[in-house]
Parts: sequence; C-alpha cells; structure tokens
Amino acid sequence: MAKKKKGPRQAVGLKCSVCSAFGYITEFNKNNDQLKKQAGGEGAFPLNKYCSVCRKTTKHVVSKKLK
Ligand SMILES: [Zn+2]
Repeated sequence: MAKKKKGPRQAVGLKCSVCSAFGYITEFNKNNDQLKKQAGGEGAFPLNKYCSVCRKTTKHVVSKKLK
C-alpha cells in the first residue's frame, strides 16, 4: 500500500492515447494553476512518452488521479 503523501504534489497515472495501455505514474504540483487546468480531466495534458506496447513515442494522457 502506498502511503498518502502530504504536500502539493499529486500523483497521476498516464496512459497511451493510441493503445490506451497504462504507461506511467507521474506527479504534478496541484498548486501550479496552469498544470491544474491541464490536468482538469481525462484527455488533458498530453505528454510525449515512449510506449512499450506501440514501441514508439506517443502522446500520453492523464488516466486517473492517484492518491
Ligand atoms: Zn501505446
């Protein structure tokens, strides 16, 4: 079980927008207004990441928020 962290950084899951494979867990600072807007919903803030399923760099989107 992951411990609940204190502080403004919030963990989110990233999934591949091409094959929907869950790829990464990353963190963003929820006190950063711009990132908060971008992370406002599924499909927001695409990031270019390597997908091991597609075996190439694809856009990854926020899958869900992790606590
Ligand atoms: Zn993929």
